[in-house]
Amino acid sequence: MTPRSFFFNLDRVQRGMMEALVKTQKGKGFLEIRAVEDPIVGDNEVLLRIKAAGICGTDIHIMEDRFPNNPPVILGHEFSGEIIDVGRDVTGYTIGDRVVSEPHKGGCGTCRYCLTGEVEVCRTKRAIGYKIDGSFASLISMPVTSLHRIPENVTYEQAALTEPLAVAVKGVLERARIEPEDFVMVAGCGPIGLLAAAAAKAEGARAVMITGTDGDEKLRLPAARRLGIDHVVNIQKEDPLQIVQDLTGGAGADVVVEASGAAPSIRQAFDLIKIDGRICGLGLSGKEDVGIPWDTAIIKAVRLICSMSSNWTSWERALSLMSSGKVNVDPLITANFSLNEWQKAFKMLQNLEAIKILLRP
Ligand SMILES: [Zn+2]
Ligand SMILES: [Zn+2]
Repeated sequence: MTPRSFFFNLDRVQRGMMEALVKTQKGKGFLEIRAVEDPIVGDNEVLLRIKAAGICGTDIHIMEDRFPNNPPVILGHEFSGEIIDVGRDVTGYTIGDRVVSEPHKGGCGTCRYCLTGEVEVCRTKRAIGYKIDGSFASLISMPVTSLHRIPENVTYEQAALTEPLAVAVKGVLERARIEPEDFVMVAGCGPIGLLAAAAAKAEGARAVMITGTDGDEKLRLPAARRLGIDHVVNIQKEDPLQIVQDLTGGAGADVVVEASGAAPSIRQAFDLIKIDGRICGLGLSGKEDVGIPWDTAIIKAVRLICSMSSNWTSWERALSLMSSGKVNVDPLITANFSLNEWQKAFKMLQNLEAIKILLRP
């Protein structure tokens, strides 16, 4: 302890207060707008004024107490912002720059994953929005190593979707590696499923199919059509297995992207896939056991490729896909709300009355 802090706390004198959406304690609910102190800006960090912050399924799961969290903590991990202050050692970024940020303040810096550019799977990465304070606030400080510049022709609203697009890009393009001859079937049409289908299409897949249910008829399946996805299928009205068989001459899909997290859909991926095909796992099931048909997987020599979060390269690719117009995220953005309207926004998402809602702190 320094003697200075014994007499007065300099930070407290200088720091203002801001409103933030905080998970206040463990359990169901316990979400409220609170006045919290402005973030401290480290020597290698920048202070960002948040322009748009997307609500993710994870935020809903944290509200419902179905995802680990470390309260009291500000939620939110998908956002864009403008730099309004820079730390002492920051170079290359300046006040006024438009940026997005990967959703963590780095990992340990010394493990295999940190050293090979896979910080997102470092065991000690400090993830924002559930472990440490996130983006449902007017300000956030982030390290320069997490930042990416927003291309000039990409708006703050669009840029707020860089994180989910990067998750899709990492799984589908970087790990499952879409090829031009691939028939790609995406199970599940939430934001990640829609963006995975759009990324596969942008990468030049032969054809892309996406599935949903009756609840998706209102918004998500129409959005898939607006994204230009070749085959949009409601599995409660049509049999996806039959359609994939018909469209692939009985071979099966070259790639199945599992973005629904539903146990029956995960099992069906092994029926939909062709021999020696790739199943790309993107959606968590929330269950301990989903009953993967192991023998089918081996007999069909399935390549099971799972992906977690996103990394530096997938963020650059996501921004490039948006800037070039190859992926248009606009059909996913249902509404912009102020931070104070968070309850209405969360409810709309729970009721499938929105695909992606951006909060404007
Ligand atoms: Zn997310
Ligand atoms: Zn590490």
